[in-house]
Amino acid sequence: LEQWDKQYVWHPFTQMKQYVNERPLIIERGKGSYLYDVNGRRYLDGYASLWVNVHGHNDPELNAALSEQLEKIAHSTLLGSANVPSISLAKRLLEYWPHMSKVFYSDTGAAAVEIALKIAYQYWKNLDPVRYATKNKFVSLKEAYHGDTVGAVSVGGMETFHRIFAPLLFERIEVPAPYVYRMEEYGSEQDVVRHCLNELERVLASQHEHIAAVIVEPLVQGAAGIIVHPRGFLKGVEALCHQYGTLLICDEVAVGFGRTGTMFACEQEEVAPDLVCLGKGITGGYLPLAATLVTEEVYAAFLGDVEEDKTFYHGHTYTGNQLSCSVALKNIELIEARGLLDDVQRKARRLAGWLERLYDIPIVGDIRQKGLMCGIEIVKNRRTKEVFPRAAMLEHRIILEARRRGLVIRPLGPVLTFIPVLAMSEAEMEEAVRILYDSIVCLYE
Ligand code: PMP
Repeated sequence: LEQWDKQYVWHPFTQMKQYVNERPLIIERGKGSYLYDVNGRRYLDGYASLWVNVHGHNDPELNAALSEQLEKIAHSTLLGSANVPSISLAKRLLEYWPHMSKVFYSDTGAAAVEIALKIAYQYWKNLDPVRYATKNKFVSLKEAYHGDTVGAVSVGGMETFHRIFAPLLFERIEVPAPYVYRMEEYGSEQDVVRHCLNELERVLASQHEHIAAVIVEPLVQGAAGIIVHPRGFLKGVEALCHQYGTLLICDEVAVGFGRTGTMFACEQEEVAPDLVCLGKGITGGYLPLAATLVTEEVYAAFLGDVEEDKTFYHGHTYTGNQLSCSVALKNIELIEARGLLDDVQRKARRLAGWLERLYDIPIVGDIRQKGLMCGIEIVKNRRTKEVFPRAAMLEHRIILEARRRGLVIRPLGPVLTFIPVLAMSEAEMEEAVRILYDSIVCLYE
């Protein structure tokens, strides 16, 4: 299997020669917070299988929901027909977003973003093609990450994903994000927030006729290295979008479904975006599904006579798939029935205490956490915050050591991330942090 994996499978992000001699981790099954490889070794799932797993692997109730749906039908199209699970799920999702009115389904977070961008762009054209002829640009944050399709990369701000594709991308206006750890020259947390909001206001004031929407990851910029925004930033962004007549898109793909301690991150600042993108945890980590939610105001702009044709011409083959929607419904039902959100908040507080111990290690520069989303920034020098040269691959070596000790996590540049299965027990989490501690110490020394 190892040989065939190397021979036939193109894994994302691993073409660097240094990776070539590494042995792949071949997962065969999972149970609760653990993944098991083909040799029967088990690993704590410290990345929630890429930030998706909610109730643990192989959950009997999610399995049953899926089997029950499978007995009926696996898939029929949403183009020109409907199905029961996708209707029920849309209704359920909108209960969490009472100011919104429609759910547009897709299958990956990037697609949910792509759809939001296309809807936002077309919204203005549908309203008034002459008046809004030049409302074509999008604003996003420095180091933003919204997925890997060309549209999603266009609004992304991470150099690695951007550089090579620059000629293919549409125009984006970048504004600073409140990355407090690396913006100390601006003063306190709230000074950093004020600086970022001032910059956004400057852009909106001068270019609002050209700006279709502002897109943000609410509360936490995940892929950028778990950059936790201080309180007030998101609310400030919303206020400026209202003031300057531009749409606000909140990308809840990573933070949604309990990850930050509430069902959705926007709740924490009582923000009501015009469009919301959901994905990842929506099916509890079982199947691909994503959704873009819009307000009635946005949706209404797409209704019209045949002659004017304001239709949104976008529709995926597996849109509203019954298996995905039925497992998503069960996932949401279980989040409530099992009191998972309270559980996440309680565990997040305990976790903060355990993570604090990592500061004993001199190369731990900053520990950031929101709910069960944690980033540990590794630095060569705590005072200057200088990072290790990329070629040292220190973070990569740390995660390999952690894997050897029974924990899987991922680095994002110099930031180690711990984003566990949401239902991971306190004891398992404490064990994970202990492994993390030992792995960092072992490579540092
Ligand atoms: N938006 C955000 C905020 C994300 O973190 C991600 C994935 N990490 C995406 C969009 C893209 O989702 P997907 O990988 O499912 O396309």
